[in-house]
Amino acid sequence: MKKRVGFPNALLFYKFSILWTTFFQELGAEIVISPKTNKIIKDLGVKFAPDEDCYSTKLYFGHTLYLKDKVDFLFIPRIGSDHEVNVGCPKFIALAEVLKSMFPDLPKIIMPFFSMAKKNHGRFKILRIIFSIGFRFTLNPFRILIAGKRAFDAQSKYDEELKFSEEELHKWENSKIFLQNLSIQEQRKTPLRIALVGHPYVINDDFSSVNIKNLLLSRGIDIITPDQMPKALIENQMEKLDYNMYFNYAREILGTTMHFIENNSIDGILQLIIFSCGPDSLIGEMSARYSSRKPGTPLLQLVLDELSSETGVLTRIEAFLDMIERKNEFRRNEENCHLHSLILDH
Ligand code: SF4
Repeated sequence: MKKRVGFPNALLFYKFSILWTTFFQELGAEIVISPKTNKIIKDLGVKFAPDEDCYSTKLYFGHTLYLKDKVDFLFIPRIGSDHEVNVGCPKFIALAEVLKSMFPDLPKIIMPFFSMAKKNHGRFKILRIIFSIGFRFTLNPFRILIAGKRAFDAQSKYDEELKFSEEELHKWENSKIFLQNLSIQEQRKTPLRIALVGHPYVINDDFSSVNIKNLLLSRGIDIITPDQMPKALIENQMEKLDYNMYFNYAREILGTTMHFIENNSIDGILQLIIFSCGPDSLIGEMSARYSSRKPGTPLLQLVLDELSSETGVLTRIEAFLDMIERKNEFRRNEENCHLHSLILDH
């Protein structure tokens, strides 16, 4: 019988799901992924997670507890960083141990530790992790090696397809090309472009983001997210700071915000901030200051937690979109007046 491996459908699973699931599938394991966040999962998380944890971590608790009696193993890797210098969130490292100590009846947790920022965590370390996990499922070292290679290849292909090159991004900014191919866009007189910035596990989790991404798409709005931004462009933006922003995923969010504020090439920025997230409070404040210095592109910041309601958020987004449309209308009228006066002058 196949061994069942459970994956809490939250936090870094949104970033590395292809890598992790491909690897275990290739090893012959049965993959069990918790469903998309729903009220049952949220209630479990809010009830059992420490009060001071951020909302996203609470949801991770809910997903893990949902899987508790359904799998033989849980896969909760302790990811220090996937960047050579900067770090992820300390929560990603601690979660597996915290869950194990709080809930001793959980299935066995596979919890490899990896941090690219550590000197000795290179290819050799990855091989060691691959084999130490692989031998739990097969005694065939070639199968383990092939599983590892296929998993990394699949993740690289996914990442490549997701990310823009700098050239593609500039082309999009300077054209009327749409990223989302929705027929509703054709019905809009003036299609809007919004950067939806935040963690991928918030933006893409309809429940914790109170469905904001779909709401924007249903309004025919073209959206771009930090995980689509070219890495080099983010790094260039971070060079402009007087200090090193050492939270790696916060760099992607802040870099995206800075780029669009600086270039004024889209209609607005919508930033999703998770309540009690340290990195989010930092970059939220920095984004607000950056935006107040260069106010051309409107920035709306929404703080989300377990009490956020779709209606409350919707009202603020509708007001934000109305304001952008009025601003664009005003700008168009001004341009027309200017053109008109130029014609009269001649
Ligand atoms: S980065 Fe923020 S939202 Fe994500 S796990 Fe850490 S504290 Fe929570």
